[in-house]
Amino acid sequence: MIDHFREAANALQRAACAVAVTGAGMSAESNIPTFRGAGGIWEKYPPHEYATIEAYNENPEKVWKFWLELVAQLKDSKPNPGHYALAELERMGILKAVVTQNVDNLHQDAGSKIVIEYHGNAKWLVCPRCRHRDPLDLSQHGDSPPYCFCGTLMKPDVVMFGEPIPSQPLVEAARLAESCDVLLVVGTSAQVYPAASLPVFAKQNGAYIIEANTETTDFTRTITDAFLHGPAGETLPHLVELIKEGE
Ligand code: NAD
Repeated sequence: MIDHFREAANALQRAACAVAVTGAGMSAESNIPTFRGAGGIWEKYPPHEYATIEAYNENPEKVWKFWLELVAQLKDSKPNPGHYALAELERMGILKAVVTQNVDNLHQDAGSKIVIEYHGNAKWLVCPRCRHRDPLDLSQHGDSPPYCFCGTLMKPDVVMFGEPIPSQPLVEAARLAESCDVLLVVGTSAQVYPAASLPVFAKQNGAYIIEANTETTDFTRTITDAFLHGPAGETLPHLVELIKEGE
């Protein structure tokens, strides 16, 4: 039987350019719920009511309240051993970058230096008109979202459904997916596009795909070469241990 952990460790050791793509499952062990599945955020807050740009423009106060609740939860969260394992892989010179769909800043908090934020960062507000950014300070904001000095209603600096991915992370992530020879895909359901196309793109360009997830996804039987089954907070530190043993 193939030892997927050993195969994955060997591939990472040999990699000239390894990149990670992470999703909500990466932060599940930091007590941040995923969006889909049992106990996911969408069970309580349907995305068409709370997570589209149309919903925000139509009823900013309602979406804002949901957002403050979410940000309060993020504020108290800490990186888990999975985040630290990816930061360690970067320090070891193996991982060149993390492309994250998460908006929680936990990769940076764990020490990762090159982090491409595909869907923005919940610690910030942005003006949709002039792109001015302000930190989101829970102690200062009330029940309504603030206005920018240019007079426009600000929004959380995250990509809502119906909004495009900002061009810099879009281009940078595509370049990394195209040029990497190993892609480590962690805790993502393979359902949110265009992020879900990055592993497919990497595979088409010859990359070895390692997938770390508690469940199989559409990637598992189609493009994944090594499947690390289990919580990322356990599988990723184990992977780092194996790499160190093999050095
Ligand atoms: P998703 O909620 O659609 O899927 C989560 C995936 O993680 C699933 O495949 C699940 O099996 C897996 N998973 C759950 N616990 C895990 C664990 N401990 N270890 C490994 N895998 C685990 O998430 P998604 O694919 O990232 O898409 C949802 C979107 O929502 C993203 O674009 C992201 O921007 C956003 N989101 C962000 C956060 C955050 O910032 N922490 C949290 C929820 C959602």
